[in-house]
Amino acid sequence: MSNTIFNLSNVQNALVNSPTKGIKMLPLDVVVKVKASEWEQYLDRIQSLCSTKWNKCRKLCARELIYGETKKCHQAGFYISDRNVCLAQKDTKLYYCEATIFIKQYVNNPEVVLICMTNNHTNHVPDNTSEIRTLPLSSEAIKIIEDQLKGGSTYRNTRISMKNILYKFHSDENKSLDIWMHEKLPSQNYCIFTGNLSAYSNNAQNFAFGFPSPSQMMLMRIYQSFCLDTTYNISARNIEILYSLVTHHPDTGKGSPVAYMIINNHSISSINQ
Ligand SMILES: [Zn+2]
Repeated sequence: MSNTIFNLSNVQNALVNSPTKGIKMLPLDVVVKVKASEWEQYLDRIQSLCSTKWNKCRKLCARELIYGETKKCHQAGFYISDRNVCLAQKDTKLYYCEATIFIKQYVNNPEVVLICMTNNHTNHVPDNTSEIRTLPLSSEAIKIIEDQLKGGSTYRNTRISMKNILYKFHSDENKSLDIWMHEKLPSQNYCIFTGNLSAYSNNAQNFAFGFPSPSQMMLMRIYQSFCLDTTYNISARNIEILYSLVTHHPDTGKGSPVAYMIINNHSISSINQ
């Protein structure tokens, strides 16, 4: 067992890479030691890095333990729906996953809490793209929301500052956009389109870019007729326009966007990538 006692800033070093890019996991059967006074925050951090929520399973009682419990992956359990598929209904979260961790604090070493994954995920690969709807926000994000609301911030301002925390990756908007386009979206297999506007404009601030998600690209391949929808006033700058390419969704029968494009140059011409 390693003697390192991890803290919030280095707890990611206790984790290993999972088969899914960008997602970590606890190493199997390796005991990770964390500072006892803050172990719940460490677990929150581990949960968000591993895209897994651990639900309480069983209390562990023993004379040598101050505290002990086992937790199961949020995909544990089994559920078969007998209803017809309802489009608005969320997918079931349960895949009968057997991943288990234990959390133990011993009487003879009360300063430290031990966390260990004893069973690996089964029938389920933690992956934040498909599960993001069902996973909680990280504890840091919740703390920021709490502090802002307690400090008298309006819901609207709190929402705006959360957007900045979650979706703004650099204080310079252009650099933040570059990170979105070249790191964040490609890591989730989005197709990225960046138009070269130099033929139409000398203004280096002009841009044209677009991004369909993998599921949108699938829809795009099925259909041959599309509508182009335009949305103005998408930001504080009224020159920016969002174009959505919309097609008929095979399940809902309604219009469904299959690609988004954002542009701040109003020239009329074809765009070259
Ligand atoms: Zn699992």
